[in-house]
Amino acid sequence: MAKVMTINSGSSSLKFKLYEMPEEKVLCSGNCERIGLPDGIFTIKYGDKKDVTNPSFPNHGVAAKLVVQSFIEKGIIKDFNEIKAIGHRIVQGGKYFSASAMFDADTEAKIESLVPLAPLHNAAHLTCFRAFKEVLPNCPAIATFDTAFHQTMSPADYTFPIPYELTEKYDIRRYGAHGTSHKYLAQEGIKYLEGVKNPRIISCHIGSGASITAIENGKCVATSMGLTPLGGIMMGTRTGDMDPSVFNYVVSVTGKSAEEVYQMFNKKSGFLGVSGISNDSRDVLAAAEKGEPHAVLANQIFNRRIADFIGQYYVRLGGCDLIVFSAGIGENEPRTRRDVAHLLESALGVKIDEELNMSIRGKEALISTPDSKIKVAVIPTDEEVMIARDAYNMCIVGKYYEIESKNC
Ligand code: AMP
Repeated sequence: MAKVMTINSGSSSLKFKLYEMPEEKVLCSGNCERIGLPDGIFTIKYGDKKDVTNPSFPNHGVAAKLVVQSFIEKGIIKDFNEIKAIGHRIVQGGKYFSASAMFDADTEAKIESLVPLAPLHNAAHLTCFRAFKEVLPNCPAIATFDTAFHQTMSPADYTFPIPYELTEKYDIRRYGAHGTSHKYLAQEGIKYLEGVKNPRIISCHIGSGASITAIENGKCVATSMGLTPLGGIMMGTRTGDMDPSVFNYVVSVTGKSAEEVYQMFNKKSGFLGVSGISNDSRDVLAAAEKGEPHAVLANQIFNRRIADFIGQYYVRLGGCDLIVFSAGIGENEPRTRRDVAHLLESALGVKIDEELNMSIRGKEALISTPDSKIKVAVIPTDEEVMIARDAYNMCIVGKYYEIESKNC
């Protein structure tokens, strides 16, 4: 038995979970929010308790120290040395990583070199890694990449049709995101496909960020997000895929700078931009049910984009055995699942049990009817347990993913 911590950091937040491995028992979990601002929020859940306090975290270093000190104060551990491994979630692994990697100097340098591709995320991950290195200097760490699962795509699936010298010189290509989640969903989903040869799964990770992945035999063959998480289907505040000339045209007609328009497409578009109401699908669905026309339109675009990608990936995979819905909307919003299923019904023969679907929120279930041509399941995702498994296997069991891992 060994205690393993997972860390998911953003520019102003630090989410953590402490596991007892290999049992995968969660000992505690929590979040440091508003790092760098005067009024921080620290939440920790352990046993059946939940404590919320308002310490000041001027930086990630202070937050990291407070997290591990709180483990001792709450009696979760007696000594820092009980923590045997840390797994850090890293958004962008670029072309370098097709599996988790030991967080050594080489890994650190590669993550640093990828900061331009994920400026907010990768920079925050490095700050957080260095903060924990200071607090727990003897504890080994691994990096688990959101992009790693998508490294099995073929050039025809990941190359953008721009002048090839740009692709080569600047490594411009589809990297995808949410890979750890899609991998988890593929592993969990397989239980519904016993006896199926070359199982084909389309996984829909649909939360405030959203992506869809085509998976064959447990390997990603195509994914909707692109160079960055702005691509693919429409999201809470992001556009997803569009005619690229919309960008230039908006710059020219509004007089805004390229950076301002880029921020608009990332933070003020999607559900928020079309509905003018909210980035949260719950608010937009509520307004749509009252007949608010922009909310109705936002939902129509969203559902259509999901169905379009599923149709595209059905063709890419030469069929599909299972569609999985996951993440905030996919797990908790039966109306979105129902509306997408209706869009797929006549072409793909997808049928769901509507009554069962309406009762499924935040739990796993097979929601397709026995005569559906494709099975449909709701599977709550768990990226943290995937990171904890890799940290345990690589740092404690000593199973290094040397062939798969680096320098692919
Ligand atoms: P995520 O990014 O996976 O945390 O998903 C966040 C989004 O999921 C929110 O913006 C909501 O649109 C949606 N969501 C989260 N919880 C619920 C819920 N209980 N019911 C319906 N939608 C939800």
